[in-house]
Amino acid sequence: MTESPQSDPTGPTDPTSTVGDEDLATTWRALWAETSEAIDDRQHARWICEVASSTEPDEFLQSLDEAPTVRMVSHLDAMIARYRTGEPLQYVLGRWAFRRLDLAVDQRVLIPRPETEIVAEVALVIARGFDAERTIIDLGTGSGAIGLALADELPLNGTTVWLTDTSSDALDVARANLAGIGRAAPNVQIAHGSWFDALPLDVVADVIVSNPPYVADASPDLERIVGEWEPASALFAGPDGLDDIRIIIDGAFSRLRSGGWLILEIGHDQGPAVQQLLAAHGYAEAEIRKDLSGLDRIALAQRP
Ligand code: GLN
Repeated sequence: MTESPQSDPTGPTDPTSTVGDEDLATTWRALWAETSEAIDDRQHARWICEVASSTEPDEFLQSLDEAPTVRMVSHLDAMIARYRTGEPLQYVLGRWAFRRLDLAVDQRVLIPRPETEIVAEVALVIARGFDAERTIIDLGTGSGAIGLALADELPLNGTTVWLTDTSSDALDVARANLAGIGRAAPNVQIAHGSWFDALPLDVVADVIVSNPPYVADASPDLERIVGEWEPASALFAGPDGLDDIRIIIDGAFSRLRSGGWLILEIGHDQGPAVQQLLAAHGYAEAEIRKDLSGLDRIALAQRP
């Protein structure tokens, strides 16, 4: 039997074939230029090409004269198509930086934001103050961003970090990211459930930190792209956006050791209301801090 390449089921014309590692006669330099044109943003195009070419950011410029494989080009084309539908860059890439971590992110979790890096920073500074041992709870962890950054940056010895979420989809993402933190991974515990219900009864913390949903249901402030693409359950929290913050402020008091701290990311217009809630629940040292744009964004308070 004679075989023409067209009829060979394993040949390059068969879409199910596994020839994806064959090199193509183009270069990453040319593909980067084409991608920049297709999406009209050279920096975003570079990140998309870096992910498609599986190179680290500092390696990409060295591989510009290299040829991509068929598989890399299909991945690139798929990312360009998704980007052009308006999907956020971070979901298209499937990863985003948060402090020292390179986190897997997709539509099951919020995109990690710069203001949340500051929330993690505040929690980190406070957690470092507990010098022998420290237990931290990251409530509603989503991708794991805050809790994993803390586990990554705190001393390996004496650190325990609990990550909770009511969404098992989100916890699957957090688990994938846990694998990326290396030696600190054994310090992290994952628990599924709504706020404090997720945790074993005997877990008490020195630091409870959360970026809960805090957007008011009908908020006109939410950016359209956020509402269209990010998980509603991680964003919205009732008519004034405080439904979950109330539950956390109430529940955290008995889960904190005396001298322990609660740190919350809040909406830019929620500072006074949250400060009042904290004082009314018996917390001390309640304070509202601002984000990089000068807006109220972080609430912190101590259990006396
Ligand atoms: N910062 C997000 C936004 O308004 C909201 C995140 C949240 O509710 N935790 O885009």
